Amino acid sequence: MKYYSTNKQSPIVDFKEATIKGQAPDKGLYFPETIPQVEKELIDNINNLSNEEIAFRVIKPYVGDTIPDEKLFQIVSETINFPIPLVKVNDTISSLELFHGPTLAFKDIGARFMSRCLGHFVNNDSRTVTVLVATSGDTGGAVANGFYDVDGVEVVILYPSGKVSPVQEKQLTTLGKNITALEVAGTFDDCQQLVKQAFTDKAITDKLFLTSANSINVARWLPQQFYYFFAYKQWADKNSPPVISVPSGNFGNICAGILAMKSGLPVNHFIAACNANDIVTEYLLSQELRPKQAVATLSNAMDVGNPSNFVRILEIFQQQFPELTSKLSSYSISDAETIATIKEVFDKYNYVLDPHGAVGYLSLQRYLQSHPAQKGMVLETAHPVKFPDAVENSIGSSIEIPESVQSIMSREKQSVLIKADYGEFKEYLIK
Ligand SMILES: *Cc1c(COP(=O)(O)O)cnc(C)c1O
Repeated sequence: MKYYSTNKQSPIVDFKEATIKGQAPDKGLYFPETIPQVEKELIDNINNLSNEEIAFRVIKPYVGDTIPDEKLFQIVSETINFPIPLVKVNDTISSLELFHGPTLAFKDIGARFMSRCLGHFVNNDSRTVTVLVATSGDTGGAVANGFYDVDGVEVVILYPSGKVSPVQEKQLTTLGKNITALEVAGTFDDCQQLVKQAFTDKAITDKLFLTSANSINVARWLPQQFYYFFAYKQWADKNSPPVISVPSGNFGNICAGILAMKSGLPVNHFIAACNANDIVTEYLLSQELRPKQAVATLSNAMDVGNPSNFVRILEIFQQQFPELTSKLSSYSISDAETIATIKEVFDKYNYVLDPHGAVGYLSLQRYLQSHPAQKGMVLETAHPVKFPDAVENSIGSSIEIPESVQSIMSREKQSVLIKADYGEFKEYLIK
């Protein structure tokens, strides 16, 4: 498999090079030259296949010969070694719980896969790789955890000061060793901008061997397809495929789902569930993509005003707007609606949603109201305990704190405070 840049001004590369580079030199995103089709037998026989086997078969064409099969199978197995259950909330809506990994969010899957691939690729390289990553909340913890103590890799995480939850902050600032957290006085978009600029700054790239671990990296993006297949495996009515609602920020997760569908996975429709950051919701109405300043919401991992991966979705649909809208709808949900949804779902069904899942749930409910013959699932992207204030205020009682969170909360935060200023960031990097 070869990858081209969505800006079409850079040479094509294989999976190894795309993983190491992260972003293409022309600032485009890498995209596979062809979308491989899964064998029909995989879909028909999915209930008899192990998750490891499914994941291996899905990812193999993308990886090609850059990782030996045995190693790839090991990487895949380690990536998904926790439960990913599809839980029934009521007769029409189920929840795909993606939060049973080490940092309690779906990003563990992409981060674990990518860190292992990168570790494999730099294994015989004398240079240290510096992974630069901007996080709106959950990426930082997942990446820090995935790369912690990996030889030859330094990780620098940028996060917006005061805009991540206490659990999220602890997850990305308490590891130490090869992980550094930069606390930026600004927004997530500021953090992302600083990272983007560093990649195009020759003074930095001459000195440091940089790569990104954001969802633009193919090794984080592509393995997110796995759990769409696992969800289908657990979906009871194979004759009537699900509507899938994906709480979306940078649009990597939903883009992986759409790719899985284009590869042959049965899906009825996708919902891009957004909070007040509604540029894709607006795009589907107006056909104009107008990036905005991100606004802070309760579902903070989705506070993105200029979603990087949306260009990949346009690429999948070959820029054909009618085809896109036949498969994708979007809703924008306010914080007040998010709170009300958490409360309602808890009161009616005794199921605790986190704010991101609640945005997904309400979006799905709205779609199903106008498509009553369908059933669907929401991707529950984070554990409610990561957002205790919003959740406990909504349900009126406290949620049980998992042991892994209790131990992390007592550790001391270590971060370096910087302004949202490129000069200051650069100085820090090449000090
Ligand atoms: C990152 C994140 C999202 C958004 O995912 P994208 O792939 O950026 O669209 C949604 N929910 C949670 C909990 C997240 O951490």
